[in-house]
Amino acid sequence: MEIDIKYRINLSGIYNAMIDICPKCGNRMVENQQLYKNCKGVASHPGMGDVLVFECDKCFKTFFFHCTESFYHYFIMMCEKWKKNRFYN
Ligand SMILES: [Zn+2]
Repeated sequence: MEIDIKYRINLSGIYNAMIDICPKCGNRMVENQQLYKNCKGVASHPGMGDVLVFECDKCFKTFFFHCTESFYHYFIMMCEKWKKNRFYN
């Protein structure tokens, strides 16, 4: 999958199978698209390939999840609505 270089970041955090729930504090991030606002970018994982990296907006725990192609495109579409998103800093 082709990932735009401007979305590439370094891998950090832990794997989180429950993508919309923070693995540390249990914060549910799916409401109001908070999950997408919390996404920091796409990183390369040695075993999993491309992953989306998130940061909890409550406790700032960093975690990641598989980046599928459909997820990647949806994610970019959502992020472009938010001018203050980290991607544009
Ligand atoms: Zn948290």
